[in-house]
Amino acid sequence: MAPAARARVLDAAGSGHDAVPFGLGGTKPKHFREMLRAAWQNRDNLPYAWKVLSQGVCDGCALGVAGFHDWTIDGTHLCLTRLSLLRLNTMPALDPRRLEDVQALRGWTNAQLRELGRLPYPMLRRRGDRGFHRISWDEALARSGSRLREADPRRVAFFITSRGVTNEVYYMAQKAARFLGTNHVDNAARLCHAPSTGAMKHAIGYAASTCSYRDWYGTDLIVFFGANPSNDQPVAMKYLHEARAEGTRIAMVNPYLEPGMRRYWVPSAPGSAVFGTPITDWWFPVRQGGDIALMYGVLRMLRDKGGLNDAFVADHTSGWDELVQELDRLDLAELECCSGLSRADFAEFADLLMGARNAVFVWSMGITQHSVGGDAVSMILNLGLARGYLGRAKNGLMPIRGHSSVQGGAEMGCYSTALPGGKAINPENVAALEAAYGFPIPSWTGLTAVEMVEACARGRLDVFYCVGGNFLRTLPEPDYVAAALSRVPLRVHQDILVTDQMLLEPGDEVLLLPAKTRYEQDDGGIETSTERRVMFSPELPRQVGEARAEWRILRDVAAAAYPERAEQLGCESGHSIREEIARVVPFYDGVQHLKKTGDAIQWGGERLCEGGLCATSDGKAHFKTISLPAEPAASDARNGARLFHVSTRRGKQFNTMIHQEIDPLTGAARDAVFMHPEDAAELHLARGDWVALVNETGRMEARVFPVILARGNLQVHWPEGNVLIRRGVVDGIGGVPDYNALVRVERL
Ligand code: SF4
Repeated sequence: MAPAARARVLDAAGSGHDAVPFGLGGTKPKHFREMLRAAWQNRDNLPYAWKVLSQGVCDGCALGVAGFHDWTIDGTHLCLTRLSLLRLNTMPALDPRRLEDVQALRGWTNAQLRELGRLPYPMLRRRGDRGFHRISWDEALARSGSRLREADPRRVAFFITSRGVTNEVYYMAQKAARFLGTNHVDNAARLCHAPSTGAMKHAIGYAASTCSYRDWYGTDLIVFFGANPSNDQPVAMKYLHEARAEGTRIAMVNPYLEPGMRRYWVPSAPGSAVFGTPITDWWFPVRQGGDIALMYGVLRMLRDKGGLNDAFVADHTSGWDELVQELDRLDLAELECCSGLSRADFAEFADLLMGARNAVFVWSMGITQHSVGGDAVSMILNLGLARGYLGRAKNGLMPIRGHSSVQGGAEMGCYSTALPGGKAINPENVAALEAAYGFPIPSWTGLTAVEMVEACARGRLDVFYCVGGNFLRTLPEPDYVAAALSRVPLRVHQDILVTDQMLLEPGDEVLLLPAKTRYEQDDGGIETSTERRVMFSPELPRQVGEARAEWRILRDVAAAAYPERAEQLGCESGHSIREEIARVVPFYDGVQHLKKTGDAIQWGGERLCEGGLCATSDGKAHFKTISLPAEPAASDARNGARLFHVSTRRGKQFNTMIHQEIDPLTGAARDAVFMHPEDAAELHLARGDWVALVNETGRMEARVFPVILARGNLQVHWPEGNVLIRRGVVDGIGGVPDYNALVRVERL
């Protein structure tokens, strides 16, 4: 009999479409049709679109590509995510009169607002104004500068999104913030991989992937934990297609066997384009939030079966004895209950690992976006270290990044809890940075992104400066967020497009500052990929209205606040910023020499921790003993109603930008609630039935979409599902919101 995890994959293949050429009749992306659609969308600016594609570093995910070529495959590297984003780089300016009456734009979706076009001029809206009016850059800088000068620096905060911004922007943002006297500067990684940063720093001293994508090729096993690269990093599927040809096998730990991870059609690989490539070999349908229990179960089996890498544990780690004590204390039945899997699953997983001399563990937001996200990352690291999957070719621990350059954000110090180089905020590091910068640096820890919005709600911020982003869509409880943002006396939105958070009522004033894209940016820019590759994207000149380079705006705003010491800011050009980055963040040395498409460095080399030598104080990898989280309630204590664990998922979108109403990988509409067919049957529900998901935070109406999902779990699209998510529940290590909730299901 086939092992259970393998049998689940084979069972799921029962759609009957696997053997049909091109997946006809099945649900799959229509790659060639989408390419034509992208060409049509950009038809008014095709030459520039071609420049962006052929010369730029992709502004989509953090897999990393310059032009059409990367450092992993020989062929073309291009995907539909990149093509969907292309229009942001080619669209013309909006008519500023469209923003004169904000009321007229109420109810517009962000997709509709995006269609208005690029933000071309600085614009101002005062409290009581109907809308925005155009102002000069001089006035914009004078207004923001005087507010920043007047404000207590602890009442000023900066947030920088991952929307294609480059390391120069992250670097300048943190320098400007610290020049102004605040450490309240944070970036979008706070909403995704901040738990990985904290857990990895503790375990190995680095907060980055320990291996390169090439290590996927020919390794025995890749395990994806809470990650769906078929949706989030599409070209990774081409890597997997090729890696499988070299013998690599793939396991998936996820409540849902994502269809794109079961079988994927790689359009540039002829055989795969016609018949698809089976991707996942083993599927472990863990209960949402049950990963820690699963990994304890697997560790226990490994230990009991003699499957540990004893030599690696003895020579290169510490903390194992404490972990074993916890392992012995835990009850297998409890681990089964908490993980939603059986001890047979634990044993099968352990056998897979024991059969894999080499393996790469990859994880993403299915792991991190929980109240115990950092602990779950620590357990992945514990498991990897117990097997010694570190510091050797074809082995690694990889937090795969969904958005371009979030990897670089914290490394540039654009992080409320770290200085450039990811250094801790302590007296020694602050003094060193003060010496480098020639001005005082605050020594207190800043607010995280979530805490910034909370500070807005409590009237504790006078200036909130947002470079891109849209908290109205990214954070739980959107009504609360709207009220919070409207309290801030000065909100600044530096962006390329209009979003609905800009249209919220001003506390006193809202200022819109038009930014250049990464491609238009003066002197080009650098981005860091998941595999720590810092790639150069050249300037591709284009001027939309009076838009300015993002780093230049940040520098000018800080200089306007304190013109008498503006020269301390330095960084007058993109080149000089890169030179300074190379000095202040020594592991980025070399970026100052990058000049053209394809130029790149990989900091740390192909692999970190070569030979098991870590960047911790003792050079060893550190196991961490984790408490088992409590099992969530199965029923409502007040009325006995059955409770489901709902989590939020992404569809055909990039960040909060939704590109298609129907997800081409699953066939689900945005209002779908993914539910196991047997759960649906128990509730007497059928496909397409309307239900309400209800809890004490909110209510969401959705249509039943049956899929093979771990029983008792539901999934809804994000950000729509944010109405169900309770604010203030964050991961203790990274401060990431917990995008999960318990709900009851009511038939409508
Ligand atoms: S996989 Fe990522 S880096 Fe590659 S083209 Fe697509 S969005 Fe860009």
